Amino acid sequence: MTGWNGLLREYAQWFNLDGVDEFVTLQEGNTPLIHADRLSERLEADVWLKCEGLNPSGSFKDRGMTMAITKAKANGAQRVICGSTGNTSASAAAYAAKAGMDCVVLVPEGKIALGKLAQAMVYGAEVLQIRGNFDQALNLARELTQHMAITIVNSINPDRIEGQKTGAFEIVDVLGNAPDILSIPVGNAGNITAYWRGFTQYHFAGHCSTLPKMWGFQAAGAAPIVLGRPVENPETIATAIRIGNPASWVPALEVIHESLGDIRAVTDDEIIEAYRYVARYESVFCEPASAASVAGILKFGVPKGSTVVCVLTGNGLKDPETAVSTSATPPVIDATIKALLEKLS
Ligand SMILES: *Cc1c(COP(=O)(O)O)cnc(C)c1O
Repeated sequence: MTGWNGLLREYAQWFNLDGVDEFVTLQEGNTPLIHADRLSERLEADVWLKCEGLNPSGSFKDRGMTMAITKAKANGAQRVICGSTGNTSASAAAYAAKAGMDCVVLVPEGKIALGKLAQAMVYGAEVLQIRGNFDQALNLARELTQHMAITIVNSINPDRIEGQKTGAFEIVDVLGNAPDILSIPVGNAGNITAYWRGFTQYHFAGHCSTLPKMWGFQAAGAAPIVLGRPVENPETIATAIRIGNPASWVPALEVIHESLGDIRAVTDDEIIEAYRYVARYESVFCEPASAASVAGILKFGVPKGSTVVCVLTGNGLKDPETAVSTSATPPVIDATIKALLEKLS
């Protein structure tokens, strides 16, 4: 086969694929790494945007899901479940459909972006809204696996983290080395853990001579790692990272320790400002949670001349409500040339 054939085939030697004879893939990965001209100028650095919103279901979750669903299928699973702030459910629903499996998703009632809910429903998952938050949805999904034959595909599933490490491989493959800083939003902290694994594996194999400092950013209203304690009622406009008790908390602390990195907080106002900035000045429409990575480098700055990659984790089209509610309503004019000229003069 020519062209890009999905992560599992392209990076096969980096995975343990024992027992797998069929890949469940939608040709995920190989996403653009776009040079951010305006941000680079503003920060006097070399800033790049890893555009994960261009994955098949519109977020980086597809990297982990191709692996998780492929392994689940190899193990004979017929049904999968996840608790989700939205993107995991969209991705799980898509890959389960491809594999011919049933998919159950548990989402916090009223707290997931409209596009993500739409995706899960149209891909054919059984969507259940929980009267509770993400952390409760995840606990319920976990508990259910004790009661029936169903495979959990949240990032506590180690196959997810394995698949997601390929984001780091792709960055090194394009830049020719690791960046000085990798800036990334943090919710459950699975992705920051996965990227670090990718960079370190590539480093030990001689594909990059350096390792990045890992800079994670949480939303100020949902910043348990920054605070050092779980947040019972996390709140943020960035619903994808509205998480009070991250599943990969301990691994994430190891990542920041080993990489000499840090996990810090950005406010919702800072997130929305960065969200609008990357759309307006870099032409990348990401979702609010993704913009935490850009908000973080704008807030804290970066060393002059450094190479920085911001991971833009999901597509802006997933959350049309935030896009519209943070914009001015377009004026309505009469359908006449006079009215148009008046408006534009
Ligand atoms: C899942 C998700 C995150 C957070 O990733 P973690 O692995 O939970 O830290 C950030 N942004 C988007 C768009 C997501 O879907």
